[in-house]
Amino acid sequence: MGERLRRLWGIGKQSDYVTRFIHSSNMRAAIYMAFIVICLEIWMVLSLASNIMESAAAGKPRDFMWIVNHGAWYVVLLAVAAAVLIHAIRYMRGKTFNMRVGNILLVVFSVACLVFGIHFGNNSYVKGDQILAFVTMTLFVFGMLVWKPVPVFIASIVTFGGFYLYIDHNLPANYSLQVNLFTLWISTVVVALAAYNQQLSEAHKSEDIKRVNERLRHIASFDELTGMPNMHSFNGAVNVLFEGIGDFDIQYSILYMDIEHFKAYNDKHGFGAGDCLLQDMAHGLLQIFADEMVARFSDDHFVAICESRVAEERAAAAQEVLKGLRGEVRLHLKTGIYKPKMEEGINVSQACDKARYACNEIKKRPGVFVNYFDNTLDTDVKRRQHIINNIKRAASEGWIKAYYQPVVRCADGSGELCGYEALARWIDPEFGFMPPFAFIETLEEFREIDKLDRCIIEQVCMDLRAELDAGKPVVPVSLNFSRLDFELYDVPAFLNEMSKKYDIPPTLLDVEITESALTDKLNELQRNMARLRDEDYSLWLDDFGSGYSSLNVLKDYQFNVLKIDMVFLRGFEGNPKSKSILKSIVDLAHQLGMITLCEGVETQEQFEFLASIGCDRAQGYFFGKPDAEKAMPQAL
Ligand code: C2E
Ligand code: MG
Ligand code: MG
Repeated sequence: MGERLRRLWGIGKQSDYVTRFIHSSNMRAAIYMAFIVICLEIWMVLSLASNIMESAAAGKPRDFMWIVNHGAWYVVLLAVAAAVLIHAIRYMRGKTFNMRVGNILLVVFSVACLVFGIHFGNNSYVKGDQILAFVTMTLFVFGMLVWKPVPVFIASIVTFGGFYLYIDHNLPANYSLQVNLFTLWISTVVVALAAYNQQLSEAHKSEDIKRVNERLRHIASFDELTGMPNMHSFNGAVNVLFEGIGDFDIQYSILYMDIEHFKAYNDKHGFGAGDCLLQDMAHGLLQIFADEMVARFSDDHFVAICESRVAEERAAAAQEVLKGLRGEVRLHLKTGIYKPKMEEGINVSQACDKARYACNEIKKRPGVFVNYFDNTLDTDVKRRQHIINNIKRAASEGWIKAYYQPVVRCADGSGELCGYEALARWIDPEFGFMPPFAFIETLEEFREIDKLDRCIIEQVCMDLRAELDAGKPVVPVSLNFSRLDFELYDVPAFLNEMSKKYDIPPTLLDVEITESALTDKLNELQRNMARLRDEDYSLWLDDFGSGYSSLNVLKDYQFNVLKIDMVFLRGFEGNPKSKSILKSIVDLAHQLGMITLCEGVETQEQFEFLASIGCDRAQGYFFGKPDAEKAMPQAL
């Protein structure tokens, strides 16, 4: 049988949603129907009472059986209608969802209505009146309520057939009544079928809308890849939890988990395998936090909430899950834990941020897998926030200051001043004196480092101008640049602008670029460096030896000065290898036509050694610490 035909006849199982939709519409119709029937029956009962009284007054009292015979019909129908009305109202108000009781009541009510219609239709018919009671009740039952087509067909045949046989038995029906009854039956079936199909198509439409809404809600609350809750639903659930806690001490901790080296895993095994790993990890986490809440924050980051006493246990279990999954790349799970404090007020995203901060803190610390957010980190977070919010103000209000550290001649053993390095300091009204490690990384992370570096460049130019104007002898100053500077603004153009504005020759401004800046965007940086070289700025490679790409860097880029990182001088005394490495670097640099400068010189012995291997320049506390004034190097 075709699908349309099956649908037309209501054959086959319908979805729960469609069944409930049709049931609800029947319950709504039943309220009107029962209400009309109740009004009708009350009116009938009242007219019966008046009939009894009038008959009694006329001296012809109705006998008891007559009263029972007439009154019982009304009372039964009234009682059933009242039961239907009460149940339907309760159902519509959501007080009960029992469809079985509803259906039984509807069937009983419909049968009562039809029997009533047949009985009173017959009474009228034998008296020679219209069969309106029968017509009304059939329209009520088959027109207002929605039934499946097959039951409609059977019930209508039984009703109409029964009625016809009943009246025909009492008083043979004529041809016209037969035709009318037949037409009425056909019309009733057609109306019932049309009503059913109309309801069905509305139910399907409504079901489709509901499905789409559910999908949208799912997308809004669940992570597409892993199927676990996303941050949106995590925030919602945790907010509800926190609100419920009220004034009590919070016993919960937020965990922020990050898969270390996941990028390497993706590179090695491909994105497909990376996605599978995340899905498996999510599956494992959902089991570990089965009674709590866990969500995917982003990429390879997950957040969870659990009771503080089991937080570390859960983190360890998550680590075990990851161990079971990793391929050839050694993946680790790093977890930051934050215990929200009531007095600080509760904000889920801030709480997650703090846990994340604690997690990021241990990213580069091998062997440390769990870190708690403590007071030190709290101050760090506040300071970071302050830095980001105030960088513009700090630059304009003079909180950022260029400090100068002397650079001296070394190869000739003279220790004479030959330059300064400008090093930034942030002297903050709230946080006090801050060295670069307190703000450089944050400014880089938020891509605001250019504001600091432009400020230092301008200060350096201003200071040089002041010295030149005062007729003092001047030496070149080297400036530190971040890799991001070259992305955020046109460095050569800005240097030219400053050198023109303060009339400082480019030969007095040296450009320091750290080795780690040279790892990506090779062409872009090389173009900028070529422009700087053309303008006569000297290019210095800072912190040489602190990274692992050192020798490649010498091959790919052209620098004037090589600044050797201070790591080579640490442990210098007891380690003869350091000495030979330093000597090789100096020799190699000379062969490549570069001037050498060694950073971090702290002792006479170091200085003498560097002089002995021909290192051209030296810088370090031994000659002078960075200072607000351009101090002369300490006498040797
Ligand atoms: P850097 O350019 O390698 O600067 C040398 C760092 O070593 C300075 O630290 C300096 O104070 C320190 N230092 C110098 N001699 C010695 C010594 O004998 N012993 C020891 N232990 N340390 C010594 P500082 O001033 O804290 O700067 C740290 C880093 O911050 C700098 O490393 C540079 O990469 C960055 N930085 C500083 N100022 C700026 C700036 O204006 N812009 C940018 N982008 N980065 C800057
Ligand atoms: Mg430097
Ligand atoms: Mg350096």
